[in-house]
Amino acid sequence: MLQIKDLKKSFNGNEVLKGINFKIDKGEVVVIIGPSGSGKTTLLRNINFLESADSGIMKFQDEEINLVNPTKKEKLLVRRQTAMVFQNYNLFKNKTALENITEGLIFGQGIKKEQAVNLAEMALDKVGLLDKKDFYPSQLSGGQQQRIGIARATVLNPALVLFDEPTSALDPELVGTVLQDMKRLADEGQTMIVVTHQMSFAKNVATRVIFFDKGEIIEEGKPSEIFEHPQNIRTKEFLSVIA
Ligand code: ADP
Repeated sequence: MLQIKDLKKSFNGNEVLKGINFKIDKGEVVVIIGPSGSGKTTLLRNINFLESADSGIMKFQDEEINLVNPTKKEKLLVRRQTAMVFQNYNLFKNKTALENITEGLIFGQGIKKEQAVNLAEMALDKVGLLDKKDFYPSQLSGGQQQRIGIARATVLNPALVLFDEPTSALDPELVGTVLQDMKRLADEGQTMIVVTHQMSFAKNVATRVIFFDKGEIIEEGKPSEIFEHPQNIRTKEFLSVIA
């Protein structure tokens, strides 16, 4: 579905992505783990064109796209078929749960209001929050806000969903509900890339785990390979610290 070749990105001379090669097939749940500041978020943001690359090629569903200067059409193609769930939910504070979902459908995708409302209600129902559709973010818990973020990301059944530390801002007792929603999506066959520190999710839900450090993919494999038989010394050290 998606292939990245030799993706490089620097900020002010600091090379944050050092030539990433990466591939994801349909239906895979790829979990990226690794120390803070190693470039995981930057990688996701490059896939979604929220950040521009210094070099690199993306192959997305048979289109070959130069990551340095993609055309508007190429950006649109990728953005239409991918969605991102952010660490801090990124909800509009002055809009209700329902409006947070319909806004992009109406103004981004040109969908008629009535249909947008139908789609948003179905998406809210899936995450168990239809009864909260008229609530504002400030009236909802962090977990509920993030589940609305997930409903918004998945409302149009995107080919690929990118999760950027979706539970990091949550109180511990709220993490489980969000992970359950993510597991449900994975069980439904949603292709996804998840950056997370939740090792239980990586162990139980990932089809593949990538250990990322200092702008490079150090090691990747099935959860059992990475967690039970890590090969690289840096992977071993990271896992021994967080275990
Ligand atoms: P991670 O997600 O693994 O914690 P990030 O991708 O957020 O890592 O950050 C990697 C490095 O890139 C960090 O040193 C961070 O400070 C730097 N960085 C990220 N975004 C920017 C930016 N917009 N401007 C300058 N430096 C940035």
